[in-house]
Amino acid sequence: MFVEKSPFLPLFNEQGELYGVFLSADLWQELLPKVRPVLEQYLAPKKRVHEEPMLDWEQLKQYWDFHYPVNYEVACEHCGSGTEDWEKDTPRLFRLLVCNLGGYVRFECQHCKSVITKRHFKKHIETTCKPCPEESDSKK
Ligand SMILES: [Zn+2]
Repeated sequence: MFVEKSPFLPLFNEQGELYGVFLSADLWQELLPKVRPVLEQYLAPKKRVHEEPMLDWEQLKQYWDFHYPVNYEVACEHCGSGTEDWEKDTPRLFRLLVCNLGGYVRFECQHCKSVITKRHFKKHIETTCKPCPEESDSKK
């Protein structure tokens, strides 16, 4: 069959467009270890990693007009995780979710997925910690 001439065969639809390639078993066996990572990535459910709004955070620091220095501390009341400088942790213990110039900053605890909100006021910071919505739902 075709395999003797060529180890692969392009397949075309009626419009003459390529819609697939038929590979011989031998070629497939040889290719599989190489294409496996690509296949796994292709088949994996698309996970959109939320980009941290670092530019907003840089802006907030730039226009910082609160009566205290920039505060890098984040602590999770839910699981006890904490850091003195969330920006410096590698990997991050807390991911920045939201940040605006008004001083509203939200983090996600990477350990338990709780959401930590820091509201910056002129003279103080108000911090709240909400357990992950999915986790608190499952407890009901
Ligand atoms: Zn936590």
